Amino acid sequence: MDAKRLKAIYSALQSRAKGKPWAAPQFTRDDLSRWLIERSDHRNGVAFRCAYGAPGCSRGRFGLTLAEVELDHRTPVAHGGLTTLDNLAVSCASCNRKKGALDEPHFRALMGFLFTWPEHQSTRVWERLSQPPRAWQRAKGR
Ligand SMILES: [Zn+2]
Repeated sequence: MDAKRLKAIYSALQSRAKGKPWAAPQFTRDDLSRWLIERSDHRNGVAFRCAYGAPGCSRGRFGLTLAEVELDHRTPVAHGGLTTLDNLAVSCASCNRKKGALDEPHFRALMGFLFTWPEHQSTRVWERLSQPPRAWQRAKGR
């Protein structure tokens, strides 16, 4: 496990928790390393699989390298989600942006719903979900 990258991932989790003490990581960096190793695919070098698979996901085409892995809170910190290993999912950047502050069951339900739409219609919704919240605020002129 790349120690430098692991440290960066762990630090990112700690900084997300600033001002939200409940969201501080409930595990050590060694625990995180073991958790990630359990989720890696050694048949394919060291690659990780995104938990979501929304359009634009790396899943199915190739695995994520550790440098590309993002850890998503299944229940977002914004909704009181804890930073426990049970509440984290390996995600690609694309799916993590689309999921945003949705709870995992809601995001999965939305994906299931949008997959029933013709692609030319669902594409616009996925594009909108990919925009960071600040872009939404600027678009609304706040
Ligand atoms: Zn993905």
